[in-house]
This record gives sequence, C-alpha cells and structure tokens, in this order.
Amino acid sequence: MFSGLAYCADCGAKLYHCRTTSWTHEQECYTCASYRTKKKCSAHYIRAVVLEQLVLQNLQRVVAYAQDDEDKFVRCVMENKTALQRTEQKRAKRKLDKQERRFNELDAIIQRLYEDRVTGTLSAERFAKLSEGYEKEQAALKQSIAELQSVVAVAETQTVSIKSFLKIVKKYTEPTELTPALLREFVEKVVVHAPDKSSGHRIQRIDVHYNFIGEVDFSPEFSWYHKKTTA
Ligand SMILES: [Zn+2]
Repeated sequence: MFSGLAYCADCGAKLYHCRTTSWTHEQECYTCASYRTKKKCSAHYIRAVVLEQLVLQNLQRVVAYAQDDEDKFVRCVMENKTALQRTEQKRAKRKLDKQERRFNELDAIIQRLYEDRVTGTLSAERFAKLSEGYEKEQAALKQSIAELQSVVAVAETQTVSIKSFLKIVKKYTEPTELTPALLREFVEKVVVHAPDKSSGHRIQRIDVHYNFIGEVDFSPEFSWYHKKTTA
C-alpha cells in the first residue's frame, strides 16, 4: 500500500516492503532500502499494520480538525507552512551564500595560478593538474548555486492550496479504514523515523505529508506510537 510513498527520515531512501507469499499481512514490514542493499543506514523497521494504523490516526485527526473548524484549520496550515518555508528558505540561503563565497574564492585562486604560470614559478604539469581540480570544483558549485537560487525563489512565491485539500476532506467525512485509494488521494509521502528506545518503550515517529498542504504537525505526540518492547 505504501510502495513509493514511504521514506526513511535519515537517508531519504524509499522504504522497502518485506513480504513473502507465505506471510500473513500481520508479518509484512518495511525497512530502509539503503539499509537493505548497502547496509549504509539503520533498519527503520516498521510493521505494515503499525504504519497503516499510524497514518490512519494522523489522517483521522487532520480530517476531524478540518471539519470541526475550517477557518482555524486554514490559519493553522498557513502558519505551519510559512514557518516551514522560512526554515527551508533560510537554510538554502545560508548554503547559497557560502557557495557563492567559495566560487569567488576559486576565481581568485585560479587567477593566481595563471599569474604563477606566466612568471614561471609553476610548472606546466603542476599548473594543469591544479587548475583542472579548481575548475571542476567551480563547475560543480555553479550548478549547485543555480539549484539553490531556484529553491529560494520558489519558496518566495509558493502559495498554499488548502482549498484543494478541503475539497478532498469533504468527500470523506470520517475515514475509518485506510484504503490505497484514500491514501493516494490524501497523502504525498510518509517519513518514517528510526525507533527511539531510550525510554524503555519503542517509540517510532512518522511524519505524514499531505497533498496540497504538506506536513501537518498539530500534535506531534499523536503520531508517536508507544509500545512496550518485548525483545
Ligand atoms: Zn535510511
């Protein structure tokens, strides 16, 4: 049900659906795809039924909230979205400034290399090797700078299409069961965090990102699943 929708919170890879024909639905689970293939991440193991339950609870809460007080819901989403956007934008802007500084620095370094070559303090071979490295770095930076500039620009103009989301909410008054159709209609992606066992309980956080409105984080503790570890 979640194939292509569930992602690892730490490495961003898709979650891999583990199942065999002999397994019951209760036994099915998801793990981080990069953990599974390259063992580069941690497992992020979550049972399919648990993930379904968590997403359904999150969805029920959001739908109930939207139906209970539409105006307040719209305000909340707007504030939430603006805050998230601001954070993302700030991060992109900081990275952009840093890369632009490095780009200019490289200009100066390459300029100096040419001068050293002209005065003969640098051999042709050494010059070729050094300038190649710096120019490669600069080319990579140029691309990254262009990408960051578009992130900053998009965040500035993006508007929230809450109305489209509310239209879907009106179609489903009270979702009681998670179906693939319901999931596709509402959910853009689900981000699964690694379980936290520091409290002696297995607490696993998921973030549900909705179509049109993004992540709705009215009450984080609601999406946390508390279960005594028996292992
Ligand atoms: Zn991962």
